Amino acid sequence: MGTILRYLLFLILIFPALCRAQWHFEEQAIMGTSVKVTFWHNDEVQAKKIASAFFAEMERINQLMSPYIESSELYSINKNAGIKEVSIGEELYQLIELSIEIGNQTKGAFDITFASVGFLYNYRERINPNQESLLNNQALIDYRQIKLNPQKQSVLLAQKGMKIDLGGIAKGYAVDNAVSLLQTLGVTSALVSAGGDTKALGKHGQRPWLLAIQDPRKKGKHAIQLPMEDEAISTSGDYERYFIKEGIRHHHIIDPKTGRSASEVQSVSIIGAKSVMTDALSTSVFVLGVKEGLALINQMPAYEALIIDKDRKLHFSNGLLAN
Ligand code: AMP
Ligand code: MG
Repeated sequence: MGTILRYLLFLILIFPALCRAQWHFEEQAIMGTSVKVTFWHNDEVQAKKIASAFFAEMERINQLMSPYIESSELYSINKNAGIKEVSIGEELYQLIELSIEIGNQTKGAFDITFASVGFLYNYRERINPNQESLLNNQALIDYRQIKLNPQKQSVLLAQKGMKIDLGGIAKGYAVDNAVSLLQTLGVTSALVSAGGDTKALGKHGQRPWLLAIQDPRKKGKHAIQLPMEDEAISTSGDYERYFIKEGIRHHHIIDPKTGRSASEVQSVSIIGAKSVMTDALSTSVFVLGVKEGLALINQMPAYEALIIDKDRKLHFSNGLLAN
C-alpha cells in the first residue's frame, strides 16, 4: 500500500476513533455507599452500555445481600434465625462459607454475626447499646453457630435473635465481580471502587493507577499514595461511620469479643489480588490491632497491610517493608 494511501486511511478510519477514545467516569449510590467506575473506551455509545451493565451488576448483588431489603436472601436468613434453615442461591451460600473460613483464619475477629449486636447501633442518630442490651445480645455473636447444609445449600442461624451482615465483605465481592464483567466486555483499563474497596484493572494510560489512603483524622488529606496495577486495595477506618459520645468514638467496626467498636487502630489498608479478601482482611486486621494483625498478614504471601495506629504511627507488613 502506498504511503499516501496509508496516511489517508489513518486520517479517515483510525484518527477519528483515537479522538473519541477517552476516560469514562460514572458514580452511583449503591450498597449504602458511593460506587465509582472509571474506564477507557473508544466508543461513547458502547461505553454508556458498559457503565449501565456495571451498575446493574452492583445492584443485583445489593438485592441479594442487603440486610435491609425484605426480598433479599440474607433478610430471609435473619428472619428465620432459631426457627428454620433457609435454602439460598450458590453465590450467597459461597460468600457465607468464605466468611466462616475467614472467621476461623482470624480467630473470630471477622465474624458476620457481629450484626446480632451491630443492629443496636445507629450512627446517624448517635445511638449505642447500653450495658444491659449489650450483655443480652453478646452471646449471639458467634459465627460457629451459623449452620450450613451443603446438600440443601441452606443456612440456619442456630439461635433466635442472631443476625448476619456482610458489610465487611460484600462490597469487595461486588467489586471483583464488576471488574470481571468489565473485562468480559472488553475493557482493559479501569478503576472500580465501592466505598473503601478499590480495584485497579491494568494501568492508567502508561502509568500505574495512583491510589491515595485517607488521613484518618484530616478529612480530604492523604496519608500516603500507592501505585496500583491489576490489584485490589481495601481500607477500613474508624472515621467512615461514627459518632463521639463522652469521649468515646463509636464506629462501625465491632470487636466480636466485646460488642463495642474496636479501638486499637485508626485505619487499615490491605493490598492483594482479590477484592473480596482485601475487604474482609481490612476489617479483620482493624479488630486484631497492630501486633496480631501484622502477624496474620505476614503469613499470607498474597496480601500486604498498612496500618495507622491509634497514635497515628504507620506500620507495614513485611512485603511492603521489603519494597
Ligand atoms: P469495612 O469498611 O470494609 O471495614 O467494613 C465495615 C463493615 O463491616 C461494617 O459496616 C459492618 O457491616 C461490618 N463489620 C463490622 N464489624 C465486623 C466484624 N467484626 N466482622 C465482620 N464484619 C464486620
Ligand atoms: Mg473491609
